[in-house]
Amino acid sequence: MVIVLLGAPGSGKGTIGKILAENLKLAHISTGDLFRENLKNETELGKKAKEYMDKGELVPDEITVKMLEKRMEEPDVANGAILDGFPRTKNQAVVLDELLESKGKKVNMALNIDVPFDEIVERIANRRSCRGCSEIYNVVFNPPKKEGICDVCGGELYQREDQKPEVVQNRLKVYENTAEELIKYYNTKNVLRTEKAGDKAGKSSYEVAEEIEKELKK
Ligand code: AMP
Repeated sequence: MVIVLLGAPGSGKGTIGKILAENLKLAHISTGDLFRENLKNETELGKKAKEYMDKGELVPDEITVKMLEKRMEEPDVANGAILDGFPRTKNQAVVLDELLESKGKKVNMALNIDVPFDEIVERIANRRSCRGCSEIYNVVFNPPKKEGICDVCGGELYQREDQKPEVVQNRLKVYENTAEELIKYYNTKNVLRTEKAGDKAGKSSYEVAEEIEKELKK
Protein backbone atom coordinates (compact mmCIF):
# COMPACT_ATOMS: atom_id res chain seq x y z
CA MET A 1 0.00 0.00 0.00
CA VAL A 2 1.25 3.48 -0.83
CA ILE A 3 -0.21 6.60 0.75
CA VAL A 4 0.77 10.07 -0.32
CA LEU A 5 0.35 12.88 2.21
CA LEU A 6 -0.59 16.22 0.73
CA GLY A 7 -1.08 19.32 2.86
CA ALA A 8 0.87 22.47 3.65
CA PRO A 9 4.00 22.50 5.77
CA GLY A 10 2.80 22.37 9.37
CA SER A 11 -0.51 20.70 8.50
CA GLY A 12 0.44 17.58 10.48
CA LYS A 13 1.84 15.39 7.70
CA GLY A 14 4.80 14.31 9.84
CA THR A 15 2.73 13.30 12.86
CA ILE A 16 0.06 11.56 10.81
CA GLY A 17 2.68 9.87 8.64
CA LYS A 18 4.57 8.44 11.61
CA ILE A 19 1.44 7.01 13.23
CA LEU A 20 0.11 5.47 10.02
CA ALA A 21 3.50 4.04 9.09
CA GLU A 22 3.91 2.37 12.46
CA ASN A 23 0.38 1.00 12.72
CA LEU A 24 0.09 -0.13 9.10
CA LYS A 25 3.69 -1.45 8.99
CA LEU A 26 4.72 0.81 6.14
CA ALA A 27 7.95 2.74 5.60
CA HIS A 28 7.68 6.43 6.50
CA ILE A 29 9.51 8.42 3.85
CA SER A 30 9.83 12.15 4.37
CA THR A 31 11.81 13.86 1.62
CA GLY A 32 12.28 16.86 3.95
CA ASP A 33 13.89 14.54 6.55
CA LEU A 34 16.05 12.90 3.88
CA PHE A 35 17.29 16.32 2.77
CA ARG A 36 17.96 17.37 6.36
CA GLU A 37 19.95 14.17 6.95
CA ASN A 38 22.05 14.97 3.89
CA LEU A 39 22.53 18.50 5.16
CA LYS A 40 23.68 17.24 8.55
CA ASN A 41 26.13 14.80 6.96
CA GLU A 42 27.33 17.51 4.56
CA THR A 43 26.88 15.32 1.49
CA GLU A 44 27.04 16.74 -2.05
CA LEU A 45 23.27 16.35 -2.27
CA GLY A 46 22.85 18.21 1.02
CA LYS A 47 25.00 21.07 -0.20
CA LYS A 48 22.95 21.36 -3.40
CA ALA A 49 19.64 21.25 -1.50
CA LYS A 50 20.58 23.74 1.22
CA GLU A 51 20.30 26.92 -0.85
CA TYR A 52 16.71 26.06 -1.77
CA MET A 53 15.67 24.78 1.65
CA ASP A 54 16.96 27.84 3.50
CA LYS A 55 14.72 30.02 1.34
CA GLY A 56 11.73 27.71 1.58
CA GLU A 57 11.91 26.95 -2.16
CA LEU A 58 11.46 23.52 -3.68
CA VAL A 59 14.64 21.60 -4.44
CA PRO A 60 14.73 20.92 -8.22
CA ASP A 61 12.88 17.77 -9.30
CA GLU A 62 15.99 16.21 -10.77
CA ILE A 63 17.73 16.08 -7.37
CA THR A 64 14.59 15.21 -5.39
CA VAL A 65 13.42 12.42 -7.67
CA LYS A 66 16.83 10.72 -7.68
CA MET A 67 16.92 10.76 -3.89
CA LEU A 68 13.38 9.36 -3.63
CA GLU A 69 14.06 6.62 -6.18
CA LYS A 70 17.10 5.49 -4.22
CA ARG A 71 15.14 5.43 -0.97
CA MET A 72 12.34 3.42 -2.59
CA GLU A 73 14.85 0.65 -3.35
CA GLU A 74 15.44 -0.08 0.34
CA PRO A 75 14.02 -3.32 1.75
CA ASP A 76 11.65 -1.71 4.26
CA VAL A 77 9.59 -0.36 1.36
CA ALA A 78 8.61 -3.86 0.18
CA ASN A 79 5.33 -3.69 2.10
CA GLY A 80 4.57 -0.15 0.95
CA ALA A 81 5.17 3.39 2.13
CA ILE A 82 3.75 6.60 3.48
CA LEU A 83 5.20 9.42 1.41
CA ASP A 84 5.40 12.60 3.45
CA GLY A 85 6.26 15.68 1.40
CA PHE A 86 6.58 13.90 -1.94
CA PRO A 87 5.28 14.56 -4.56
CA ARG A 88 5.22 18.33 -4.45
CA THR A 89 4.93 18.92 -8.20
CA LYS A 90 2.86 17.25 -10.89
CA ASN A 91 6.05 16.05 -12.55
CA GLN A 92 7.04 14.30 -9.31
CA ALA A 93 3.58 12.71 -9.14
CA VAL A 94 3.92 11.35 -12.67
CA VAL A 95 7.42 9.99 -11.96
CA LEU A 96 6.12 8.36 -8.79
CA ASP A 97 3.28 6.64 -10.65
CA GLU A 98 5.75 5.28 -13.21
CA LEU A 99 8.10 4.07 -10.50
CA LEU A 100 5.30 2.36 -8.58
CA GLU A 101 3.88 0.80 -11.71
CA SER A 102 7.23 -0.82 -12.46
CA LYS A 103 7.02 -2.45 -9.02
CA GLY A 104 3.40 -3.53 -9.40
CA LYS A 105 2.26 -0.89 -6.91
CA LYS A 106 0.18 2.29 -7.08
CA VAL A 107 -0.88 5.22 -4.94
CA ASN A 108 -3.83 3.88 -2.94
CA MET A 109 -4.71 7.14 -1.23
CA ALA A 110 -3.65 10.78 -1.48
CA LEU A 111 -4.56 12.27 1.87
CA ASN A 112 -4.98 16.02 1.68
CA ILE A 113 -4.76 17.49 5.18
CA ASP A 114 -6.51 20.82 5.06
CA VAL A 115 -5.64 23.21 7.92
CA PRO A 116 -6.25 27.00 7.75
CA PHE A 117 -3.06 28.99 7.09
CA ASP A 118 -3.42 31.20 10.19
CA GLU A 119 -3.38 28.09 12.39
CA ILE A 120 -0.38 26.75 10.51
CA VAL A 121 1.68 29.91 10.99
CA GLU A 122 1.11 29.73 14.76
CA ARG A 123 1.85 26.01 14.88
CA ILE A 124 5.15 26.35 13.06
CA ALA A 125 6.24 29.23 15.29
CA ASN A 126 5.72 26.93 18.30
CA ARG A 127 7.44 24.00 16.69
CA ARG A 128 10.74 22.54 17.83
CA SER A 129 12.60 19.66 16.20
CA CYS A 130 15.13 17.22 17.62
CA ARG A 131 18.65 17.45 16.19
CA GLY A 132 19.10 13.75 16.86
CA CYS A 133 16.00 11.91 15.65
CA SER A 134 13.91 14.72 14.04
CA GLU A 135 10.97 14.14 16.42
CA ILE A 136 8.68 17.18 16.41
CA TYR A 137 7.25 19.02 19.46
CA ASN A 138 4.88 21.93 19.95
CA VAL A 139 6.00 24.02 22.92
CA VAL A 140 2.36 24.81 23.80
CA PHE A 141 0.33 21.71 22.90
CA ASN A 142 2.87 18.93 22.89
CA PRO A 143 5.88 20.03 24.91
CA PRO A 144 8.75 17.67 25.78
CA LYS A 145 8.87 16.45 29.40
CA LYS A 146 12.09 18.40 29.92
CA GLU A 147 12.40 21.76 28.18
CA GLY A 148 14.71 21.72 25.17
CA ILE A 149 15.36 17.95 25.38
CA CYS A 150 13.86 15.24 23.18
CA ASP A 151 11.73 12.65 25.06
CA VAL A 152 12.63 9.97 22.51
CA CYS A 153 16.42 10.20 22.21
CA GLY A 154 17.58 12.90 24.64
CA GLY A 155 18.76 15.06 21.73
CA GLU A 156 18.72 18.87 21.69
CA LEU A 157 15.56 20.60 20.44
CA TYR A 158 15.91 23.58 18.11
CA GLN A 159 13.94 25.81 15.76
CA ARG A 160 14.78 24.98 12.17
CA GLU A 161 15.92 27.78 9.87
CA ASP A 162 12.86 27.16 7.70
CA GLN A 163 10.52 27.44 10.70
CA LYS A 164 11.33 31.14 11.03
CA PRO A 165 8.43 33.45 10.08
CA GLU A 166 9.78 34.90 6.77
CA VAL A 167 10.68 31.47 5.45
CA VAL A 168 7.36 29.99 6.62
CA GLN A 169 5.48 32.60 4.57
CA ASN A 170 7.48 31.62 1.50
CA ARG A 171 6.93 27.89 2.07
CA LEU A 172 3.18 28.51 2.29
CA LYS A 173 3.28 30.55 -0.92
CA VAL A 174 5.19 27.78 -2.69
CA TYR A 175 2.64 25.29 -1.38
CA GLU A 176 -0.29 27.37 -2.62
CA ASN A 177 1.25 27.57 -6.08
CA THR A 178 1.67 23.82 -6.44
CA ALA A 179 -1.05 22.21 -4.31
CA GLU A 180 -3.92 22.64 -6.68
CA GLU A 181 -2.43 20.71 -9.57
CA LEU A 182 -1.61 17.80 -7.25
CA ILE A 183 -5.09 17.79 -5.75
CA LYS A 184 -6.57 17.76 -9.24
CA TYR A 185 -4.17 15.04 -10.34
CA TYR A 186 -5.16 12.66 -7.55
CA ASN A 187 -8.83 13.59 -7.77
CA THR A 188 -8.85 12.51 -11.40
CA LYS A 189 -7.34 9.20 -10.31
CA ASN A 190 -10.09 8.78 -7.70
CA VAL A 191 -7.69 8.39 -4.77
CA LEU A 192 -8.02 11.86 -3.23
CA ARG A 193 -9.24 12.06 0.35
CA THR A 194 -9.50 15.50 1.96
CA GLU A 195 -9.61 15.85 5.74
CA LYS A 196 -10.26 19.18 7.40
CA ALA A 197 -8.09 19.30 10.52
CA GLY A 198 -6.86 21.70 13.18
CA ASP A 199 -8.45 23.64 16.03
CA LYS A 200 -11.24 25.23 14.02
CA ALA A 201 -12.21 21.91 12.48
CA GLY A 202 -11.99 20.34 15.95
CA LYS A 203 -9.80 17.52 14.71
CA SER A 204 -6.23 16.81 15.77
CA SER A 205 -3.56 15.06 13.72
CA TYR A 206 -3.98 12.03 16.01
CA GLU A 207 -7.71 11.87 15.26
CA VAL A 208 -7.11 12.12 11.54
CA ALA A 209 -4.57 9.30 11.73
CA GLU A 210 -6.95 7.11 13.74
CA GLU A 211 -9.81 7.65 11.30
CA ILE A 212 -7.70 6.89 8.23
CA GLU A 213 -6.14 3.86 9.86
CA LYS A 214 -9.55 2.39 10.68
CA GLU A 215 -10.71 2.98 7.15
CA LEU A 216 -7.65 1.40 5.56
CA LYS A 217 -7.82 -1.64 7.83
CA LYS A 218 -11.41 -2.39 6.77
P1 AMP B 1 9.45 19.57 4.58
O1 AMP B 1 10.07 19.18 5.86
O2 AMP B 1 8.68 18.44 3.93
O3 AMP B 1 8.61 20.83 4.66
O4 AMP B 1 10.64 19.87 3.56
C1 AMP B 1 11.63 20.84 3.86
C2 AMP B 1 12.22 21.40 2.58
O5 AMP B 1 12.82 20.34 1.82
C3 AMP B 1 11.21 22.03 1.62
O6 AMP B 1 10.93 23.38 1.96
C4 AMP B 1 11.96 21.91 0.30
O7 AMP B 1 13.00 22.86 0.20
C5 AMP B 1 12.62 20.54 0.43
N1 AMP B 1 11.73 19.46 -0.08
C6 AMP B 1 11.17 18.45 0.64
N2 AMP B 1 10.45 17.63 -0.15
C7 AMP B 1 10.54 18.14 -1.41
C8 AMP B 1 10.01 17.76 -2.67
N3 AMP B 1 9.21 16.70 -2.80
N4 AMP B 1 10.35 18.52 -3.75
C9 AMP B 1 11.16 19.58 -3.65
N5 AMP B 1 11.68 20.01 -2.49
C10 AMP B 1 11.38 19.30 -1.36
